[in-house]
Amino acid sequence: MKRDIVELIASLIRPEIRALSAYHVPEARGLIKLDAMENPYSWPEEIKQAWLESLRDAPLNRYPDPEAHALKDKLRAALAVPTSAEVLLGNGSDELIQMLALALAQPGRVLLAPEPGFVMYRLIALWCGMTYVGVPLRNDFTLDLPAMLEASARHQPALVLIAYPNNPTGNLFDTAALRRIIEESPGLVVLDEAYHAFAGASFMQDVMLYPNLLVMRTLSKMGLAGLRLGLLAGHPDWLNEINKTRLPYNINVLTQLSVEFALRHQGLLESQAQRIRAERTWLSAELGKLGGVTVYPSRANFILFRTAAGRAGELFNALKQSGVLIKNLHGASPLLDDCLRVTVGTEEENRAFISVLNKAW
Ligand SMILES: *Cc1c(COP(=O)(O)O)cnc(C)c1O
Repeated sequence: MKRDIVELIASLIRPEIRALSAYHVPEARGLIKLDAMENPYSWPEEIKQAWLESLRDAPLNRYPDPEAHALKDKLRAALAVPTSAEVLLGNGSDELIQMLALALAQPGRVLLAPEPGFVMYRLIALWCGMTYVGVPLRNDFTLDLPAMLEASARHQPALVLIAYPNNPTGNLFDTAALRRIIEESPGLVVLDEAYHAFAGASFMQDVMLYPNLLVMRTLSKMGLAGLRLGLLAGHPDWLNEINKTRLPYNINVLTQLSVEFALRHQGLLESQAQRIRAERTWLSAELGKLGGVTVYPSRANFILFRTAAGRAGELFNALKQSGVLIKNLHGASPLLDDCLRVTVGTEEENRAFISVLNKAW
């Protein structure tokens, strides 16, 4: 009588969705959290008070400004978006990637990205019914330009997504190689500059120079991950179309007001990013002192390093047992065997991490 849920699910949920496991976020309670590229610093008490005050009269009973006009204007200035370019806001850049895929997806349409790269590219392609093609990086995680161009010619991707700097490897790809890819791509190329605050390089100033380039940013890695705000910049004609796949009111009123507030204190965010960059240098040097380690150069707020063969899991567990959570990438990609990734934390957190790692090494 009662219909069998298992059978209904098997017949209704798309097989490629059933084959997935939900995005897993590890439990971090009580641990030093160095796994998710968050900014470890909070705000001074008086800034917190001023922030709360700025939210006091937020009209929670009303829908937010659907276009977030005031916020967009401030973001354009803060992120140096060229005046002729348009911006589109997302509930995190993850939502912008989804909007792009929704606007471009058709059976057989390809989303192409270098690998290892940001896992959401593949997942979102799959959700939206695009075909995902990953092109392996070289062993040193540089871009394999001939392989990228060959794959682009063969698969004619509607969308190429490249993180600049790349996650999880931390490096910046060669500028000339990226220009070739943009020039030779038949479709749209989106450069994902999630780690811009730590990179010292950007394509933002070039976004109007190519007919097929968009640049994406997020405030998450800069210190506002909890607010969920990402931004896509580019030619108004492109963004006009992509905007049609946006859910109305995707940026809630508290996020709009809080980001506007944070941008009035941009100096604070910038000084935190500077501390993170300085700590990155210290952390890389300390990691480099370990025997038999390979530490990869980073232009982001995390560092990828390779342990001796077969030891990544054991070291990851030893760290966790001692209260430090990082990311174990062993098994995530053939190029990442024995690799661990640590997010740059506060001065104290980084010292705790190095001290535990030294003992376990
Ligand atoms: C973290 C990250 C994002 C996601 O950012 P949100 O704005 O928090 O959704 C996007 N791209 C890359 C490469 C990332 O590492």
